This record gives sequence, C-alpha cells and structure tokens, in this order.
Amino acid sequence: METNSGLRPADVRQNNLASVLGVLRRGSATRSDLVAATGLTRSTMAGLVSELAELGLIDEVSSAATGRPGRPSPLVRLVPGAVAALGIDVSVTRLAVGLVGLDGRTISVVEREGDRTADSPESTAEAVAEMAQRIGVGGDGAPILVGVGAAVPGLVRGRDAHVVLAPNLGWTDVAFADLVRTAIHQRLGVLLDVSIGNEADLGAMAEARFGVGRRDRNVLYVHGDIGVGGSIVVDGARLPGASGYAGEIGHMPVNPNGGRCRCGSVGCWETEIGERVLLERAGLDPNSGNSGVKKLVVAAEGGEQRALDALAENGRWLGVGLAGLINILDPGLVVIGGLFGPLMPYMSDALDAELVARRFGPDERVASVVAAEMGTDALLIGAAELALTPALADPAGWLTIGG
Ligand SMILES: [Zn+2]
Repeated sequence: METNSGLRPADVRQNNLASVLGVLRRGSATRSDLVAATGLTRSTMAGLVSELAELGLIDEVSSAATGRPGRPSPLVRLVPGAVAALGIDVSVTRLAVGLVGLDGRTISVVEREGDRTADSPESTAEAVAEMAQRIGVGGDGAPILVGVGAAVPGLVRGRDAHVVLAPNLGWTDVAFADLVRTAIHQRLGVLLDVSIGNEADLGAMAEARFGVGRRDRNVLYVHGDIGVGGSIVVDGARLPGASGYAGEIGHMPVNPNGGRCRCGSVGCWETEIGERVLLERAGLDPNSGNSGVKKLVVAAEGGEQRALDALAENGRWLGVGLAGLINILDPGLVVIGGLFGPLMPYMSDALDAELVARRFGPDERVASVVAAEMGTDALLIGAAELALTPALADPAGWLTIGG
C-alpha cells in the first residue's frame, strides 16, 4: 500500500513498482485489474504504469490483440523478450543454457546431452559461454540481460556462490560463479552477475512461482535424475537449515544392505531410486541418460514386463522414503520433478501402497503427491528466477544503475 508507515517515499515507490510487475508476471491485466490486485489508487497506478513503460518493461495493447474476449480496456503486459536472465542447468547428463523472460517463459534454449562427469568446472564454464553466444547474448537485438543464474546438483554456499560439493559431478569447492562470469566476459565482452543455487531449490522455486507449487505453502519438492535432491518449503519459504544445506534427501539412508553411493555412504535413497539403478533394473545401460529413460518409457508404454517391474520397484522405494519424509514434515503437497515427473503414471500404484501402509496418524492426513508441471526446463527457469529476483524487487533502481 502506498501509505505504509515507516517507509520512505522512494521505498514505497520501489515496492509499488515491484508489486505491479508481480501481478503482470502472472498475466496481462487492465489498469482496473491492477488497481484491484494491488490496492493502490488509480492515479498512483497511472504513474507506475507510465514509469514501467518508460523503462521499456511493459506496454499497453488492445485486448483483441491478446485474444481476450469482451474486454474493451487496453491490457497492460510485459514486453515480450525486453528483459531476460540467462539460466543455466548443470545436470549430470545435460547442460542447458537459456534466455528466460520476466514472465518465466524461455525465449531460447540450447542444450548438450550426454554424460558430463568427465567435464571439469572450467570446461563447463567455457561451454556455457559458447552456448550463451549461440543464443545471442552480447549480440544485436538481444534482450537486456539482468544476470545469470545456474542450477547445480550439490551443496551451494550462498555467501560466495561456491559449489561446496557435487558428488555426481565430482566437484569439490568450486568457485563456479567466478568461472562462468570470467568465461562469458572473455568470450562475449559483457560482465554479468552470476548466482548459483541448488538444483532442487531452484526447481522448487520455478514450481512455486509458475507451476503446481502455487497450490500450497508447505511443499516438499523432490528432484530426481542420476542424483536425488530435495527442497523443503515451509509456509512459503525454503527451509535452509543451520548451514544452508537442508534438503539433501537423496542421501537419507534407506537400505543398510544397499549399494555404494557417490557420496561415500551406503544405501542412500538415490541408490534405490536414481536414474542409474532404475535403468539397470530395466535391463538398460545405466549410463545412457535421457535416451535410456526415453527407451524405458517406450518399453513401459508397450507393456514390457521388465520395464514395468523396474518402475514399480522404483515407485516402492520412492514410497518408502516419502512416507518417512511426509511423517516428519507434514507437507500439504509433494511435487515430484526431474526424471520422475513423466514416470509417475508407472510408479504411482507401488508408491501409493507404501504411503498408505506407512502413514502415521488419521486417514485424512494425506499429502497429495503430484508430478511437477514445469517440464524439462524447470531448472533453467528456476536458475533464471534467481538472477531476476533483485531486478524484480527494484526494477527502476536496477535498470538505472545496471542498464
Ligand atoms: Zn549418498
């Protein structure tokens, strides 16, 4: 509200600009919609709209142009592709770089598939810079770039953006933000802020802002591929833990007689539900990555028993771990993303059976377990969100100083 006590007028204006942008990120709106959604007056809104238009962030179009029927008032919208962040997804079997707009939609994406465990942090940063060049960063007509965000499968230390440990990449204490900043600067001549986040936290952020995570404020997000990560959202905020590393659910011990984990322990949850063990159970090459998973889906669709059995076994182990986590955390919603999202239909019977058998408390205390909605680019979009967050909080300040 514009009359907030204790705030300087400049802070009030900054908050108001941020809240107008926040509404528009969910979709175009008339000025009346914006007034209703923010509680600001019409005259204040007129000033904010013209300021954001002068910054080049929004424009007004006729409702017919956006296909919205029966609304004669012009619609205020984010200018498509005007401002973007560069998102990077550093997964074990995929490296993807994309431009993501203020509306959380990808503008363009390039990716490399294949096992990347032999790639050094330095060569990964070089590859990122080369891919950024391919999608036009630093070129004519490219969006104004707010910054760069990267999703990494491991522990990330917030204060210096170091990747402390990423066992499935074989990285220990890597200054990845510095490497990416330098590589982009050397190749493209632009200096950009680079932020790093844990992949599950960023997948959860993407789902919370644009996907299925909007449905609840208490969410357990599970991201699986070769490794398994988690993000615990309590009353709308990520649970950080004492060191900032909470959520490493993939290294929760579930089977004392299980396999050796990349972290050095035995029988971690990801050794029972990760991509390699799933492909191995299905009789496929455990290191075949996304192409192996696609083969598995085709086999399951064709009713091949070995594939269905492997998926049911994964669903059973997924249920064993989830039952414990649900009993501890009491989430309203469990979101399953990454590799597991598209496999949910083949795992859900075995998963549900475990959840029912291991449920503690009354029958109605059942968290709904749903597949993530954001698809393959969820981590990229979450990574871009990390970079966009400061600009969204202070759009005029950022564009005046940084642009
Ligand atoms: Zn482990």
